[in-house]
Amino acid sequence: DTNMAQDTTSSKKQASGFAPGEPAIDVRNVHKAFGPLHVLKGVSMQVMPGTVTVVLGPSGSGKSTLLRMINQLETVSGGEIYVGGELQGYRHENHRGTDRLRRLSDKDIAQQRSRIGMVFQRFNLFPHKTVLENVMEAPVHVKGMSKADAKAEAIKDLTRVGMQNRLDHYPSQLSGGQQQRVAIARAIAMHPEIMLFDEPTSALDPELVGEVLSVIRSLADDGMTMVVVTHEIGFAREVADQIVFMDGGVVLEKGGPEIIDHPSTDRFKGFLASVL
Ligand code: ADP
Ligand code: MG
Repeated sequence: DTNMAQDTTSSKKQASGFAPGEPAIDVRNVHKAFGPLHVLKGVSMQVMPGTVTVVLGPSGSGKSTLLRMINQLETVSGGEIYVGGELQGYRHENHRGTDRLRRLSDKDIAQQRSRIGMVFQRFNLFPHKTVLENVMEAPVHVKGMSKADAKAEAIKDLTRVGMQNRLDHYPSQLSGGQQQRVAIARAIAMHPEIMLFDEPTSALDPELVGEVLSVIRSLADDGMTMVVVTHEIGFAREVADQIVFMDGGVVLEKGGPEIIDHPSTDRFKGFLASVL
């Protein structure tokens, strides 16, 4: 039966995802300039499949710009980003014996972007849609899933973030922490292979931070490949496989979570003192 065969292929792809031993994300000497402002000055970073990388750094160091480039919300000014071995946004082309880069079509870029889910600091849920409708939106309108299937999927994802009892609520009826959990459910409903979080708890009242971090931690436990920008040092120490400390558009320190307790630069030391 053809459908069965297709189902098997797609679930297999989801389970394995990336080639073993190859990075899920490979950022190679990336630069970004906004006009005269040189924001990223040669950033390199690798994220292995099924691991969590926490990016730390002071405000303005280029953390959001880096995440936005991985998700192709910004183009690179120099360097290359690979996701699952695929160059993002461009393809190499041989032109009269010289290699040059050619921009991919919008459709190919959308295809690449669909492998990545992103959650931002401010929960950007649709205010006039219910929790359930928010999570069903992209599967129905982007993937063309049937409403019945999208609803079943949405309920599963909302259960995963502990929001299954708020299906008919509107965002304004929820706390910030609940809204952020719905935003996470909305991202995972698209079955991304990678999740990017940009300061997901920075806009929350302190008492709501824990519930969002524990949802992110549960995704990590399930083997999701993730990059998390956060100032939550305790979370970083417990959950991160890799810590990347950025300052002034460069990576100053990179290593296992133990570098939090043994920073080797004064900048990282100072940063840690400011957030602890
Ligand atoms: P972080 O997330 O670490 O606080 P950002 O990546 O947001 O840092 O910003 C890094 C620098 O880039 C800042 O100086 C910021 O003002 C600048 N910047 C970010 N986005 C833009 C943009 N679209 N146009 C111009 N400057 C930008
Ligand atoms: Mg930022």
